[in-house]
Formats: sequence, C-alpha cells, structure tokens
Amino acid sequence: MTTPSASEIKEVREITRIERIGAHSHIRGLGLDDSLEPRQVSQGMVGQKKARRAAGLILEMIKEGKIAGRAVLIAGQPGTGKTAIAMGMAQALGQDTPFTSIAGSEIFSLEMSKTEALTQAFRRSIGIRIKEETEIIEGEVVEIQIDRPASGTGAKVGKLTLKTTEMETVYDLGQKMIESLTSEKVQAGDIITIDKATGRITRLGRSFTRARDYDAMGPQTKFVQCPEGELQKRKEVVHTVTLHEIDVINSRTQGFLALFSGDTGEIKSEVRDQINAKVAEWREEGKAEIVPGVLFIDEVHMLDIECFSFLNRALESDMAPVFIMATNRGITRIRGTNYQSPHGIPIDLLDRLLIISTTPYEENEIRQILKIRCEEEDVEMSDDALTVLTKIGRETSLRYSIQLITTANLACKKRKGTEVSIDDIKRVYTLFLDEARSSEFLKEYEQNFLF
Ligand code: ATP
Repeated sequence: MTTPSASEIKEVREITRIERIGAHSHIRGLGLDDSLEPRQVSQGMVGQKKARRAAGLILEMIKEGKIAGRAVLIAGQPGTGKTAIAMGMAQALGQDTPFTSIAGSEIFSLEMSKTEALTQAFRRSIGIRIKEETEIIEGEVVEIQIDRPASGTGAKVGKLTLKTTEMETVYDLGQKMIESLTSEKVQAGDIITIDKATGRITRLGRSFTRARDYDAMGPQTKFVQCPEGELQKRKEVVHTVTLHEIDVINSRTQGFLALFSGDTGEIKSEVRDQINAKVAEWREEGKAEIVPGVLFIDEVHMLDIECFSFLNRALESDMAPVFIMATNRGITRIRGTNYQSPHGIPIDLLDRLLIISTTPYEENEIRQILKIRCEEEDVEMSDDALTVLTKIGRETSLRYSIQLITTANLACKKRKGTEVSIDDIKRVYTLFLDEARSSEFLKEYEQNFLF
C-alpha cells in the first residue's frame, strides 16, 4: 500500500486551497481569548460573538473527546459567517486539521452515487499523521527513492544515490546539488558526493537524478553524530494525509495525479477496507495517529432522507470527523419524504445536534470585515470608498461586496491608480449586478428572453 509523500500532498493542497477557501483565507481561528471569550476582532474574525462563543465551547468538547455521535448545525442568513465559523473551528484545532467544505447540492452528481460522494467527503476530513523513522550508518550509500514524477518533459522516476560522508542534512545536500546542477549537468547514472570544505559536488559514477526531484526530500531528514563517532541518519518524517488521499492513490493507476483533477471516480469498498485495516495496524504500532478534521456541509436542507440516514450511521464511526452543517431554512420539507421538519432535517438527526445561530452584521462589522479582506488581498482602498462599499454590503450582501474588492482593484490598476477610489467602486457596481438587480433585470427583459 502506498501513501503520498509530503511534497506531493503539498502540491495538490496548494491548488485546491486557492479554489475552495479563497474567500475565507483571512480566517485563522475563532479569535477567542484564554477563557474562550470572543475578542471583537481577532484572527480575522469580526463580531458574531454569540456564535463564536458557542463554537469555542464545542471545540472544548471536541478536545475532551465528548463530541462523538453528535454534530453541529449553524443556522443563519446567507453571508452571516457560517462557513467562516466552521473554518475557524478547524483552524483552532491545529494546522494540519483537514477541512472539507461542500454544498448539499454537490452530493447529487451524475458521476457517483450519493453515498459515495458523502463517503469521500467524510474521508477527506480525516487526517492520518504518519511517522517514519530510519537509520543509516556512515559510509553506506544512502539511497533515496524518488517516486514523484517531476513535471515537465523528460521527467523520470528513479533513484538518487548519495554518499554520506558529511554531517549534513539530506535536505542541505539536495539544496546544494540543485545549485550545482544548474551549472553542471549531471547525467543519469551519476553518483554524487559533496565536499564539505568547498561545498562542491562531484560526480562519481552511476545513479539517476534530476534537479527538480530533490524537493521530494523533506527538510526533516537529519544526520546526527553518534557517540561512537559514526554518522547515523535519523529520520523522523511526519506528514498528514487524508484517508481519501490514501484511497485515491491506492485505487488508480495514475496514483496521486488523480487528486489534481479531482476526477477520482468511485472507490471500491475493498480498497477502503484494506486501507482501514492498514491504518488500524499503523495506529497499533505507533506509526500513525488519526487527526479528526472538520466536514462542513452547507445548504444541508438540500440533502435527502437517504443522505441523512447515511450521516446518522457515519457519525457512529470511531473515525468520524467533526461534522458541521449549515442552513438558512426554517421549517421545510425533508427531501425524499412528505414530512416537514425544522431545517428539513429528520428528527433523529436533529436530536443529535448542537445548534448555533448567526445573526446579520452591524454596519461597523461589515466595514471591519471588508477592511480585513482588503488587507488579505493586498488592496489599498480610500476611506470613503470603503464607506461606499460598506453601504453596498449592507444593502446587497456581504459576499457581493467582498467580490467587488477584487474587481474594483482591477479597475483601479487599469487606470494606473494605487488606491481604490469611490469611482472604481461605482464602476464595478454598475458592471456586476448583485442578486436583486440581476433578477430585476431579468424581469424587465423577460419578454426578450423567452425566445
Ligand atoms: P452562505 O449561507 O451563503 O453559505 P455563510 O453564512 O456561510 O453564507 P460566509 O461564506 O462564511 O457566510 O461569509 C461570507 C464572507 O464573509 C466570507 O468571505 C467570510 O469569510 C466573511 N465573513 C463572514 N463572517 C465573518 C466574520 N464574522 N468575520 C470575518 N469574516 C467573515
């Protein structure tokens, strides 16, 4: 069974991060003090204090292991920070805590069954922290398997052979080689050593290498001096991958590359059983630990009764992530039935829920959030432009006004300005419609659209 290397995962995450959580990149936690009281503005969070206080208490329950079998529901108007709070909780749980955010409607795709889509979402939200350790004595030739095909043409997969004559980190060696390789062409089959005094790298013989492959080696690999005077390599590499990533790598011939496209297809249950068994083994041997992440499902009222039964069962699993749902509906029909219920959620699931509510923002809070977003996006904005944008945010939606920051900045750059002005805001406000104006427009020209 293969697990993805730390650098592979980093690459995939960097791409998906930009797409999925760009709008929340300013959120770094819940912004609570030591007694779990929310600060008015902290860690990118503004206001919404009651909900943040409640979220903080839930975090405590999670840390004390008392959340099992329960889930969280955040109920509130669109744009009141439901996703932001869920994300803040994941951040507060730790840097490598996986966070998955999906909308209820995403479950109904043509490519996979509803339960497969939900299973993938669950497994994306469970991290496995893997520890590896090895030892190598001085003088031995250290072989590092490079299993990551480098991007670009002519990329190969092969072995890099280092002669360990120096007390260096493998990473340092790799770095020096990269520098050297730019001026010196290393041939496939070369063996390389590094001269401690000069830092020069020489070629000795056979081995394969390509400069860009060296970043496959983590900086954690170290050579340490042993009491006997021998050099030993002690390697304690720790990286966190999600169960879903392990699933994908073990079920597709193209391995981790499938993670880039997101086109992972359905995964066979035998593969998952094998992986679960392997992970259990690693946990017993102390090689791995589970990092429960956060699974956030927005518009949860879009799920149907079958999805809800699946979720009910999944919550019982000993590897369940923290499950947070959000909705802006009150009493509504449970999809797939003729029954109405609060938030369109069946009673048996409602029973397990801790419900938090969010409320609309005050004008000064909207202003503060917009200001934070400007900083996050490196946008300079004049005070009066910010005032106008705040007004727009209040009258349309927070999301819409956040979107105008990027577009207004483009308009500003186009006129070679350095600070977004009221005119830039006005310009993009007329170019891009908010929901209300867009429907108004459609209504007005309804007749023309009918053809
Ligand atoms: P929807 O119901 O439409 O999904 P939502 O309630 O999940 O909306 P968010 O998407 O969290 O709302 O909020 C809209 C934007 O405002 C996001 O960019 C979010 O990061 C930001 N935001 C919302 N609330 C806060 C807050 N309290 N502090 C800082 N930023 C916030």
